[in-house]
Amino acid sequence: MEERTLSIIKPDGVSRNLIGAVIKRLEEEGLNIVAMKMIRMTKEQAKEFYKIHEGKPFYESVTDFMSSGPCVVMILEGENVIQRYRKLMGATNYKEAEEGTIRREFATDIEKNVVHGSDSEENARFEINHFFNALEIAVR
Ligand code: GDP
Repeated sequence: MEERTLSIIKPDGVSRNLIGAVIKRLEEEGLNIVAMKMIRMTKEQAKEFYKIHEGKPFYESVTDFMSSGPCVVMILEGENVIQRYRKLMGATNYKEAEEGTIRREFATDIEKNVVHGSDSEENARFEINHFFNALEIAVR
């Protein structure tokens, strides 16, 4: 099934010069990028983006982190891309992530884990609309 998902290279990935390394992994896996830009979220935008985590102990901290510097936001498109990209990212906690995943290779912390990816079709739709309008999405 053709799907779209939202990918973010988080502020730790950008500041550690991992943009190229992450994009290389996406391309090697055949995950097509159909939109891409660099942005810096305000604290309010980060809180809106992560509102499903409101009330959790890490909500303040992760929204501080996500607004601490620029991110690269991308839309990926392809067959089963939500699941395929989640697998490529690896577990939230890099210590539990499988060998060969982006987080296992690059993450340094449960919070500073380099990349984000939507976890369902519904969340992908919400997250894509949070960052992109229709004119910014390319047809491949
Ligand atoms: P994901 O879908 O794998 O990104 O994980 P979640 O949706 O559960 O969490 C969202 C983000 O919040 C994670 O990617 C981390 O950056 C951060 N996070 C999750 N769990 C924790 C935690 O226990 N402590 C801290 N400090 N951050 C966390």
